[in-house]
Amino acid sequence: MNRGLLFVLSGPSGVGKGTVCASLRTKMPELIYSVSATTRTPREGEKDGVNYFFKSREQFQDMIQGDALLEYAEYVGNYYGTPRDFVEKTLSEGKDIILEIEVQGALKVKEKFPDGVFIFLMPPSLNELASRLGGRGTETQATIDHRLSVARDEINLLYHYDYAVVNDQIDLACKRIDAIMTAEHCKRQRF
Ligand code: 5GP
Repeated sequence: MNRGLLFVLSGPSGVGKGTVCASLRTKMPELIYSVSATTRTPREGEKDGVNYFFKSREQFQDMIQGDALLEYAEYVGNYYGTPRDFVEKTLSEGKDIILEIEVQGALKVKEKFPDGVFIFLMPPSLNELASRLGGRGTETQATIDHRLSVARDEINLLYHYDYAVVNDQIDLACKRIDAIMTAEHCKRQRF
């Protein structure tokens, strides 16, 4: 059986990765989503095991020590990481998986999975990103400013990615990602 393809979707906080992923989920029910572990506190409506596995810093350290994470990164004061076993199992079952992670983590995944497909979701502009972050109403101004400065650094690393997708409209962004996934499968088609 052919292994599944690993897709990584990154992009600055507030660009709409979560919304794009939620939309992809309804359009592509066969695509598997990796659920990350984090030390961040849950936002309203977020559920443990669905949005994230919410962990204490000690529990997260144990996962690092136990080599349970494919990658992890510290982002704006919290740890985020991808549980390794689930990714390996999904790929070996011939299913595609998508990781929605920030840039430092994506670069670590690229070292381990050079055949992965790396997609960077771009905001139409930095001004638009600032207003999306403010509009969420879930973060303080200091956190928003911090996330914007991280976003500038992240956009400078765009050249490590295979594709840039502008998220001007959710449906269009999803269509572009769908086209990328189809093309990547065609590229690897063997008889
Ligand atoms: P948020 O706190 O807004 O849910 O996520 C903050 C950032 O962490 C986002 O850019 C998100 O993509 C990233 N992130 C989520 N899970 C992971 C993960 O497992 N690893 C890494 N490196 N970043 C993650």
